[in-house]
Amino acid sequence: MQRILTGSSGSAIKSHNLRAVLFSLLRQEAVSRAQLAQLTQLSSTTITNLITELLDQGIVAEDTDSAATQPVQRAVGRPQTALRLVAASRTAVGVHFDVDHINVAVTDLFGKPLAACSAPHPADRAPQPALAETVRLVRQAISESGVDTRLIVGVGVGASGLVDAERGVNVIAPNLGWRDVPLRDWLTAELGLPVCIENNVRTMALAEVMFGAGRGVNALAFVYARVGVGAGFVVNGEIYRGSAEGAGEIGHTTIIPNGGIRCRCGNTGCLETLVSEPALLRAAHELAEAQPRSLLAEHLRTGQGLESVFQAARAGDEPTRAMLQTRAQYMGIALANLVNILNPELIVMGGLFRQGRDLLLPTVEATIRARAFARLGERVGLQTASFDGRAGVIGAATLALNTFFYQQTAEAG
Ligand SMILES: [Zn+2]
Repeated sequence: MQRILTGSSGSAIKSHNLRAVLFSLLRQEAVSRAQLAQLTQLSSTTITNLITELLDQGIVAEDTDSAATQPVQRAVGRPQTALRLVAASRTAVGVHFDVDHINVAVTDLFGKPLAACSAPHPADRAPQPALAETVRLVRQAISESGVDTRLIVGVGVGASGLVDAERGVNVIAPNLGWRDVPLRDWLTAELGLPVCIENNVRTMALAEVMFGAGRGVNALAFVYARVGVGAGFVVNGEIYRGSAEGAGEIGHTTIIPNGGIRCRCGNTGCLETLVSEPALLRAAHELAEAQPRSLLAEHLRTGQGLESVFQAARAGDEPTRAMLQTRAQYMGIALANLVNILNPELIVMGGLFRQGRDLLLPTVEATIRARAFARLGERVGLQTASFDGRAGVIGAATLALNTFFYQQTAEAG
């Protein structure tokens, strides 16, 4: 079974060269051998040998038509032929353990879903039945996608809470009540495919850098707010985890020093108690109780949760708009602090900040620009997430693509 191009037979130098070539192909879309040599600083002989191998494996194709070579000509020199990655030559599976659903997708080499399926995931379910359901969903997605199992590079899993990526263990998943669940080993045994796991917000950050708004960005922060508020960092193409997998717990930044609502972490006044979905809904219900005949109260009765709060604000309910402004300002303060510490080139915001971007982002941005040190706040880019509803599965599949194909940091079966 040939699952990967070089596998264990490749030397460390060859793997390094291959990584450089694959990443150049991913970034450039269409490129000549001479340009690849220039971009990777490898000799033309090395490039020719690697490309021959990749052509043989069907991973790279050679186009000679002028339309395909035009973008390359503009970039550097005049190529005779243009090389490009064949999107469906290898595929990956992404598994996302969301708050209430297990989502699975099979994607091509660019993280584009070819098939997807999901199933409800009750919060109090034990790990074993959830894992059995996951295996069923993975098999279903593979079957629906029609891809050749031998060409699947691996399975990436985006789990919630604390993840020990090295050991493949979901250490704590607070929303599910899971502790020390060996996700990787269970799934590897059941599926017979290489599996890697990571915290789901980190996988989304990686997807932005490889396939989304953050392509080519050297320091990216991805912030996701929904039930909780978390961040993932990708620095020089690598996920930054910190010393104990704890990097990115931005939701537990103290915003209100005294008093404030108790957070699930045990502290009080955390950002998460102010800008998460439950926090915004709580604030909206308090406003509606005080003004039962307001636009907001009317919208909340439609039962569409946070969307009804955003709709009331868009319809001009002033107290709701003011509440959202204050909450966006808190988020902006936390991000200004983040800018001062990490100095990211780009911050990408997902979850409810994407859903309510028209209402929240201008204030978030103004706060970052005003409060971050010197010109750091003016320089940082701010964007909404590229994949939204599918960010979790695309992120998880990206993790597998990065681990088992582009970087080949883990040995594939
Ligand atoms: Zn907290």
